[in-house]
Amino acid sequence: MKKRIFIDMDEVMADAYWAVVHRYESQFQVTIDRSLIYEKKLWELIPDDHYDIAFSFLQEPGFFRNLKVIKGAQDVIKQLHKKHEVFIASAAMQFPNSLQEKSEWLDEHFSFISWQNRILCGHKYILRGDVLIDDSSHNLESFEGEQKLLFSSPHNNNVQEFTRVNNWDEVATLLL
Ligand SMILES: [Mg+2]
Repeated sequence: MKKRIFIDMDEVMADAYWAVVHRYESQFQVTIDRSLIYEKKLWELIPDDHYDIAFSFLQEPGFFRNLKVIKGAQDVIKQLHKKHEVFIASAAMQFPNSLQEKSEWLDEHFSFISWQNRILCGHKYILRGDVLIDDSSHNLESFEGEQKLLFSSPHNNNVQEFTRVNNWDEVATLLL
């Protein structure tokens, strides 16, 4: 049966997490302990007085435009798009400058997703459909659809409440 599927961008399609880590490491000439990255939030691993600077990376022109595509996302989303009704749903209004960049990024990497199927939004609890694939537990908590899939990212390693998908192959197994 055809499902309506919402797919988050950052940490699901676009690798924002490691982009911040690498940007931080190059700016401060340090290496964040990889063994801790899966136990703690990134913000717990850097000094308090670096927090604002690290957060500002997300507001730099080009940050969202230049993110790498997460492995497998293009192939699997293309197949999902053929079989189901796919919408990209990103809370882009947190960083208003990201709207244009995210739109261009989708044009480059996911041109088969038309503008009508791109929801660059605020709250995601307004979404009504069957499946949400997201790395943020608070988005999944408020979603009323039948399938809430938590896409693995270092920051959600300890979250237990949702069906976890570690990569796009696992999404394909569940939905294709
Ligand atoms: Mg996300």
